[in-house]
Formats: sequence, C-alpha cells, structure tokens
Amino acid sequence: MTPAKFNHLLQDLDHLTEEQVQRLILHFQTTDPEQKMIAALEQRIIDKPECPHCHSGVIKRNGKKDNIQRYLCKNCLKTFSATTGTPLARLRHKAKWLDYMEGMLGSKVLRQAATDYNISLGTSFRWRHRFLQLPAEMKAKWLEGIVEADETFFAYSEKGSKKLNRKPHKRGKHMGKQGRSKEDWIPVLTVRDRGKHTFDSILDSTSIKGINEQIAGKIEEDSVLCSDGYKSYIQIAKKNGLIHKRLNLSAGIRVIDKVFHIQNVNAYHSRLKNWMNNFHGVATKYLDHYLGWFRLMDTTENFNENKLLLIQQHLRAT
Ligand SMILES: [Zn+2]
Repeated sequence: MTPAKFNHLLQDLDHLTEEQVQRLILHFQTTDPEQKMIAALEQRIIDKPECPHCHSGVIKRNGKKDNIQRYLCKNCLKTFSATTGTPLARLRHKAKWLDYMEGMLGSKVLRQAATDYNISLGTSFRWRHRFLQLPAEMKAKWLEGIVEADETFFAYSEKGSKKLNRKPHKRGKHMGKQGRSKEDWIPVLTVRDRGKHTFDSILDSTSIKGINEQIAGKIEEDSVLCSDGYKSYIQIAKKNGLIHKRLNLSAGIRVIDKVFHIQNVNAYHSRLKNWMNNFHGVATKYLDHYLGWFRLMDTTENFNENKLLLIQQHLRAT
C-alpha cells in the first residue's frame, strides 16, 4: 500500500463504529498465529464448557492472563484455562505448535525439527513427548472376528541417558524367537483384527502370563485368534475363549483355509520397523510413545496436524 493510501485508510478508521473497531481488533488478533491458536483452543471450552478438575459444566469467565482466558469453576472454585489438564499445559510458543505437529507427521527427527522451527533441542524434545502422551494411550480396546497376534522385538536402548547399565545390542544380530530370552531385546505384542483395530503393548515377558495380561478382556469370545507356532498362544486362546488357528511358518504353513494368517500384523510390524529406522534407535523409555505415534498414523484415515492438535485438547488421564 502506498503511503498516501495508508493515510486515507487511517482517516477512514476514525469513522468506524465501536462494534466495527472491536471486529477490526479481533481480525488482527486472529491473523496472528499465536492468537489464532489460542482462539482454536478456547473454542473447545465455548463448545463444551467443562472444568478440568471436577468436570462440572458450570463455569464462568474469570479475567485474562497473557491473552489467555481464565475460567472459574462454580462447583469446585478452582480456576483454569483451555489447556489446563491437557498435554498442552504450560507449553510456550503456541504459534509454532501446528507446524511442529506437521513436522512430526513427516517423521522429522528432534534435531531437524528444532532447526526447522527455530526452537531449542530441549523444547523439541519436550513438545514431541507431550504430543505423544495421549497417542500412546489411544489403542483399540476391543477386537473381534479374525484377530492376528504376533510379537516383534526392539533393541534395548538407553539412548539419551548418561549411564549405561546394560550392554548395547550387537549389530547385525537377528531378531526373532532367538531373542526371546535375551534381556537386550524388548518384546512388543501387536494384535490387529481385520477391521484394522490395532492394539499393541510392550511385554514384560513373552510368557503365557505376560501375553495374557495384555489381551485378556480385549477380544470378543469365539473370535478366531491367528498366531504363529509359538506354544503359549494355545493356552492364551483357551483362556480367552477363542478359536485358535496356529500357523507353522517354518513348515511353510502361512495360511489356513485361505483366510487365517498373520500377514496383516506382520506387514504392520514391517512398516513400523521401517518407520522406526528414521530415528536410528529410540530410547526404550519412550518406546510406547513411538508405538503410539506410528499406530495413530497407520490407523487414522487422512491423519493430519489438525487431528493431532485436536487429540491434545483432551484431558489427560490422572
Ligand atoms: Zn471444578
């Protein structure tokens, strides 16, 4: 805009009504990325008023702090804002969250994301793990029909931790059943039905008890459990009232009656491993976060950063 035109604009502004002034202020506020994010977060409270402390819906506005609306709960008398009790609580630089989440969907490593979004490595780390808290817990609670189960293994890692208590894993060692007794491989069980409902869990052990603890009560009775030849699954199927189709992969029996196989879960594992390679080994401490991250991307249709942001607006389980 030329300086002359701008001066005209300023003069015109003098003729605005009070309501138009307010609208103009709002317009500028919401084009600012930080304000835009705040407005998006606060919309949740407007749509569904709820106190994060006692879940009462009887709340009132209680002043602003740092441009963020505070609320007072009339039931428990505690105050809160739109992010209280969510993974977003007390995180700064709101204007960059959505870009950061987009970067996560592009599987950016921590350091790359820090550089690209001009944040510190510490912030990059904090954000990533905050944004993964809820995804880590979002797994199928109920599976039915033809249900495939198998385990996969991840090298134990204390990456990022200063002290090393355990020996680092040997390179080139084959993953698989041989690894079951080794303490430097972490077993992960994945269970997936043909409706793509997916459940996975880090196992304390691959014993009958270890596996059963994770799947008990999660699979509809009389469903068909497909597993490899691992003996523990015989008992597990029995305990859960499931029909068992046991494949014998080493004998070349990969499919029974054309439909019973574990190829979906194995394909899932191979996608997971491929994706995990981006990160050159993840700390075992955060393995559940990475499992959740991948599970969410793999099982959500048209997943994008807005959906990831929406997840963050849920209250954390306490
Ligand atoms: Zn309350």
